[in-house]
Amino acid sequence: MASRGSILLTGGAGFIGSHVAVEVAAAGWTPVLLDNFCTSERSVVARVGEVVGAPVRCIEADIRDAQAMRAAFGSTPMHAVIHLAGLKAVGESVEKPELYHDNNVRGTEVLLAAMDEFGVRRMVFSSSCTVYGMPQRLPIDESHPLGAINPYGQTKLDIERMLDRWADACIDRHVCSLRYFNPVGAHASALIGESPLGIPNNLMPFVVKVARGELPELGVFGGDWPTHDGTGVRDYIHVVDLARGHVVALEQLDSMHHDCINLGTGAGLSVLDVVHAFERVNGVKVPYAIGPRRAGDAAAAYADASLAEQRLGWRARLGLDDMVRDAWAFATRSAC
Ligand code: NAD
Ligand code: UDP
Repeated sequence: MASRGSILLTGGAGFIGSHVAVEVAAAGWTPVLLDNFCTSERSVVARVGEVVGAPVRCIEADIRDAQAMRAAFGSTPMHAVIHLAGLKAVGESVEKPELYHDNNVRGTEVLLAAMDEFGVRRMVFSSSCTVYGMPQRLPIDESHPLGAINPYGQTKLDIERMLDRWADACIDRHVCSLRYFNPVGAHASALIGESPLGIPNNLMPFVVKVARGELPELGVFGGDWPTHDGTGVRDYIHVVDLARGHVVALEQLDSMHHDCINLGTGAGLSVLDVVHAFERVNGVKVPYAIGPRRAGDAAAAYADASLAEQRLGWRARLGLDDMVRDAWAFATRSAC
């Protein structure tokens, strides 16, 4: 089948980008990855190719490098950009706010300048539910007040505002910011998934490491939250569902100016819901201990996912059992 055109995926070798690349290819586009591998491994590119069934091109570059970005756009006409490149560790962003601004915000400025130079007018951006700050009401819909509670969240807000201005400056620019809730899981092939460097900050990769015996137990951040079992509640979404969301957004970009859309399931699941499902589905033990709350955490955050359904015809298909099964299959396969 002839390609429908090339799509540049910044951060395409990352956890989410690698899954988006697979879905982009499945929809008949040619994904072109662009990554500096600061938080991912080069081997991911070949594994994406294995899933797709053909080699996938990857440009090794930093989005902050204007010359490299010009070379990337000069090498192939790009129909659109899916902009996933970014640093995402909340704790690190508190320690290094300038790095986060430079990488995420300035990097996006450089990217947009290169897109302008080559007449690329379409972008899907990896935003986050962090732009809502502390939840003031649940479920969280797109009209929820915005506000950053850490430097990482500030970068996402700054970029959304930048994209407002970019879209406003020209009638035929089209942007969709997808506000992800909590992406977890892995591709069913177990060839691509989440493999954070060092001790993970997020729940699912931490649970995986405990199940593998690499960490002794999960510290549950608080057992006295006002939730159904006292532990924190989040909206976990399977990364393959999330990746499909990018393709439907891409397909409908031309009817958008700058639309901001939640990608979540709409269901709130607790830490213990995740732990118990992981143990039941995978037949492994996840020792845990309830400890103090983590500073800056919310009791609960979950999406009103109805706009994605109305606007994109998208809804999550996979559930918690799929998420924990696929996360474990990837972890155990990549351990071989
Ligand atoms: P990831 O760290 O696995 O992937 C990010 C990729 O971007 C990596 O491959 C990294 O090497 C690359 N990158 C970073 N800075 C770069 C730069 N300056 N130039 C080129 N490449 C660069 O993270 P992920 O989970 O796949 O996240 C992808 C995007 O989604 C990020 O923008 C993140 O903020 C956003 N997001 C992630 C989550 C989540 O929980 N995973 C939630 C909401 C939003
Ligand atoms: N959590 C936990 N122990 C951990 C990591 C996370 O109890 O080691 C809890 C955390 O308090 C929250 C949920 O798991 O209720 C999801 O946390 P994560 O950091 O993955 O996502 P975020 O809080 O950024 O939505």
